[in-house]
Amino acid sequence: MPQTIDLHCHSTASDGVLPPAEVVAAAHAAGITTLALTDHDTLAGLAEAHAAARARGLQLINGVELSACWGAHTIHIVALDFDADNEPLRAGLARLQSQRTQRAQRIAAKLEALGVARALERTTALAAGGQVTRSHFARLLVQDGLCRTPRRAFQRFLGHGKRAWSAAPWGPLAEAIEWIHAAGGQAVLAHPLLYGFSRTQVERLLEAFCRAGGTAMEVCNGTSGAADVVRSAALACEYKLQGSMGSDCHDPAQPWRTLGATPPLPPNVPPVWRAFRRQPVEPVTRLSPSA
Ligand code: MN
Ligand code: MN
Ligand code: MN
Repeated sequence: MPQTIDLHCHSTASDGVLPPAEVVAAAHAAGITTLALTDHDTLAGLAEAHAAARARGLQLINGVELSACWGAHTIHIVALDFDADNEPLRAGLARLQSQRTQRAQRIAAKLEALGVARALERTTALAAGGQVTRSHFARLLVQDGLCRTPRRAFQRFLGHGKRAWSAAPWGPLAEAIEWIHAAGGQAVLAHPLLYGFSRTQVERLLEAFCRAGGTAMEVCNGTSGAADVVRSAALACEYKLQGSMGSDCHDPAQPWRTLGATPPLPPNVPPVWRAFRRQPVEPVTRLSPSA
């Protein structure tokens, strides 16, 4: 079900595989007219993405996926349509970046102790100038033949509590939301059903997110099935949150999260993009050529 709006995707500025301009080109080729590039804790891809979007007449919305702590859990907040020059936001992101750098050093030290040679140096090379993320460590472990897939690398080494795990001291939800609001943006709770939480925990998270000032949640993403969308839409209505949709595409070769491939936002949920400074063309589910 390709959509014309995709408000969540990644480039080589964080853990995506395509450079920002190629993400925009791929989105354009997929028929997307409004795209937000939402790399983890960095705005580094936005300038290149904007230039590519201008050249193709595609509307690019400023985006970033912020890391925050809720208790012992890492939660992601997608910020949309903010002023990218805003100082409080930039300072907040700089802090998250330095926490990421320090965590990468700790992970590399653990991997080196496990016998992975020059882990930091080689992972930095894999990141090719973008930030070093756990996904890059996963790629290194696959490349070295220690794990068959990146998923296995998380299960065995990089995931929560595993041998090369290192916690990152992200700030509280309210702090990240404050930065987003200072920059005039919309704060969207990313993929609430994908944290592995129980029903009660999801509700507590939504309560905490609302209390912290958040006003929207992702209702549709690349992995949402019909039942997930119904459940998410009901939660959005219950907590009076606007709805967002985005594929969370990291790699166009991954068929489960390709650009624009989300279910449509249900009509009972007010779309987050109504609050944007410039209105996108309303999303239309496009029929396949054979239909
Ligand atoms: Mn990612
Ligand atoms: Mn995420
Ligand atoms: Mn993401």
